[in-house]
Order: sequence, then structure tokens, then C-alpha cells
Amino acid sequence: MKTLVLGAGIIGISTAWHLLERGHEVIVVDRQPDAALETSFANAAQISVSYCEPWANRQAPAKLLKWMFRNDAPLLFRPQLDWQQWRWGLQFLSQCHDAAFERNVRQLVALGSYSHAALKDVVRATGIEYQRLERGIAHFYTDPAAFDEAGKAAELMQRFGVNRKVVSREELLAIEPAFRHYDRIVGGTYTASDESGDARVFTQQLAALCAARGAQFLYGHDVTRLETAGGGIAAVHVRDTATRVAQRLVADDVVVACGSYSAPLLRQVGVDLPIYPGKGYSATFKLKKPELAPFVSTIDDEVKVAMSRLGDELRVAGTIEVSGWNATLDTPLAQARCRMLAERIERVLPGVCDTRTEAEGGNPRFWTGLRPATPTNIPYIGRTRVRGLWVNAGHGTLGWTHGAGSGKAMAELISDRTPRMAFGFLGYEAPRDTLRGEAQAA
Ligand SMILES: Cc1cc2nc3c(=O)[nH]c(=O)nc-3n(C[C@H](O)[C@H](O)[C@H](O)COP(=O)(O)OP(=O)(O)OC[C@H]3O[C@@H](n4cnc5c(N)ncnc54)[C@H](O)[C@@H]3O)c2cc1C
Repeated sequence: MKTLVLGAGIIGISTAWHLLERGHEVIVVDRQPDAALETSFANAAQISVSYCEPWANRQAPAKLLKWMFRNDAPLLFRPQLDWQQWRWGLQFLSQCHDAAFERNVRQLVALGSYSHAALKDVVRATGIEYQRLERGIAHFYTDPAAFDEAGKAAELMQRFGVNRKVVSREELLAIEPAFRHYDRIVGGTYTASDESGDARVFTQQLAALCAARGAQFLYGHDVTRLETAGGGIAAVHVRDTATRVAQRLVADDVVVACGSYSAPLLRQVGVDLPIYPGKGYSATFKLKKPELAPFVSTIDDEVKVAMSRLGDELRVAGTIEVSGWNATLDTPLAQARCRMLAERIERVLPGVCDTRTEAEGGNPRFWTGLRPATPTNIPYIGRTRVRGLWVNAGHGTLGWTHGAGSGKAMAELISDRTPRMAFGFLGYEAPRDTLRGEAQAA
């Protein structure tokens, strides 16, 4: 069977790998010159099975209103003249209650656990090295009220089989002493089984292994059009971004794994999924004092920023902005958010990173990416109503965590097997307790 995979981010490349494992002939198309050059490029690096709570929760609407005009807000909704954004916003609000939250968390944990096992299998089979640290993920709090709530979230996770435990300030600092100088910490949570590592390095290495196993890569090619005939996918039209030469590609199956851009592409053929960009930022700093830097990947709850050590650098990343398709760092808001990352790291880990600006002789690497966000935070993995057209997109804040498993699940579905997890796959009957509260067939 010949399968076209559109998109060479973590999701597309994992899909390609698992399809090759099942004997498919694979062609991967991406507009970029290499894998993982868009959202999978410089994320927070966390493999976070346990910290998977969606942004849509009971408190979110009030917070959104409060934060609307703050440039440093962790979650920012800036209305645009864009119907898709408003519709996405309304669907997000419809998920902001306890029953939806629990239902969504349950599925995210199921996918996360499945994916973590799949990632370990790939690493074992390939030996890929990507600055992996199996030191768990910690989460620290500075607000006592938020810390109280953390206990409830940990309980919920424990109910779903994730061992997230509440720890006192002293226990947290014993787990990760790097934060001992930050006296505002009141406590935290910790999950030993989570981990961290560089998603870009992993994805690019896996892409190289896919090529070595015979996958064909059409980099530098824009997917311009999906063509259907008789209710099925007939062809994919692509164009060389340099020469403008067009090609019509034909395959038995087509998987759309184009991150946020999956939604407009799928709408061409009447498949309408609420995937909308959630812009986020990261900064990567050289370590000035490696001996004082954390090994445990950590979330700073007050500003919702994650920190992960990648060799002799620290990646600091976070915040989400639902404000349209602008993917540049070249706006006053983007500049303010980058500054916030540098200032925050100086506050919690003073003197540890080289946070000097370029003008001051430093070399921080700022980056922004558009998370393919869904109102539930649950990705769309499965088949569309167009025969032979599949989707693997909408992984939002957790695409690195869910990448290996989403690729494996997609390859299983295409190979007529049902993945063993309690997850509502698109176009399949969902297990009773995993219904996402939205239409499953698209
Ligand atoms: C600041 C930030 C921090 C994050 N931290 C974490 C984290 O710690 N842990 C975690 O699990 N997740 C994290 N994420 C989320 C994660 O990075 C994403 O969910 C994931 O990268 C999405 O992968 P993808 O393959 O779907 O999309 P992408 O990586 O964007 O891949 C899609 C590919 O499709 C290609 N493409 C799109 N349209 C076309 C077209 N028309 N023609 C040709 N090619 C096309 C693009 O070039 C791209 O390569 C974070 C995200 C951000 C922004």
C-alpha cells in the first residue's frame, strides 16, 4: 500500500515511521527543507503524560477576561475578524466545566500513556539520542490557593493511573535543588515517570531513519490542493516552492499531518475540524553555571512556563495566544512575551543562564510556533468521510508527548487494526467513556 503523509513535524514523521514498520510504501511531503522546522522545532521539550490538563476548565472563562489586555498573560484570546477563531472560542467555552474537563483528561492520559510506551519502543529500536532526561516533571507553585487546587488535580490524575504526587516545598527542593534560591515557592507536584528531550532532534533523526528505510521525501513542496472523486481521495497537488513546478501525487491513502494548517487544507474537501493556531514562545539560553541548573524538567505555575535542560542549554517555553495566524516574533506582543521569558528565568534561577540580549553580547534564541489547538486539547486521529483521507492533527500543547503514539495509532488504523487504548478516534465509534462531546465523524 502506498501512503502519502502530508507534513514532516513530529506527528507526520512518527506516522511515516510506523507505516514503514507495517510494510507501507511512504512518501512524505513538506514545504520546509527538513523535518521539524515549524511547531516541532523548539518546544518546551516535555514528555508530559501526567501534566496534560486542557486549558479549557471551569476557571478559564474568568481568567481569559481578566488576562485579555495583559501582554504577559499565560492564555490570551485576542479577537480577530475571523469566523473560525470565534467558532473555536465558543467551542472552547463549551468545554469549560468539570464533566468535560474530566472526560478530556481521561482521553489525554490514555493517549499519553500509549504514546510514552511507543516512544520508548522507538528509542529502544533506533538508539536515537535527543538530550533525553528521564528525571520526571515537577511543577512548582507560588500561590497557596493554586497549590491547594493542585492537590485536586493530582488526585484526578491518580484516579486515571498517573502517579502525580503533591510535595512540600522541602520535598520539591530535594527533588530539584536548583530552585532553592527562589523563596516564593510554597510547594509543588512531581511525577517521576515523565521525561524531557529535544523534539526537533528526535524528529529529524527519525526522518533520516525513515529515508534510510526507503521512505521518499518531497521537502520544499507546498501541498496546494486535495482532489477528490467519487467520495474518495483522488490525488494531492503539490508545488515546488523554489521552481514553482507542480505535481499531482496519487496514493492509496493520504494522511494530513500539517499541524494548524491541516484545518484549511481539509476544508477544501468539506472536512471541517476546529483546529486553530495557539501561538507560543520559547527561549533557549546557554548555561552560564551548568552546576546550578535544573535536570528535572519543571513548570512554573505562576506564569505557566516550562523549563527543560537540553545539554548545556536551558529551554524556557510557554504561554498561549489565540490571535490568528501570525507566526513571527516581529510584533510588540511577541517581543514582550520573549522578554518575559528572559526576565522570569533570571528571577527563578538567578545568574544560571546567559540571558543577555544580542545588543549586550548574549545569544538567546527566541522562537515562536503555532500549536494546532483544539477546543478540548484532544487531537483528531482517524479517518475522514473522504475515503482514503486520514487526519492526524490538532495536538495542541502536547504534540511531542503524543507524537509517537499518534503515529503508531494512525498506522494501525490504516492497517485495519484498532489501537488498544480508550480513545475516541475520528470516524470510529468511541468507547462509551471517551466521547469527546462533539461530532466524531467529519
Ligand atoms: C511554545 C511551545 C511549547 C510546547 N511545548 C511542548 C511540550 O513541552 N511537550 C509537548 O508534548 N508539546 C509541546 N508543544 C506542542 C508541540 O510542539 C506541537 O503539538 C507539535 O509540534 C505539533 O506537531 P505537528 O507535527 O502536528 O505540527 P508541525 O510540527 O507544525 O508539523 C506540520 C508540518 O506540516 C507542514 N505543512 C503545513 N502546511 C503545509 C502545506 N500546505 N504544504 C506542505 N507542508 C505543510 C509544516 O511545514 C510542518 O513541518 C509546544 C508547542 C509550543 C508552541
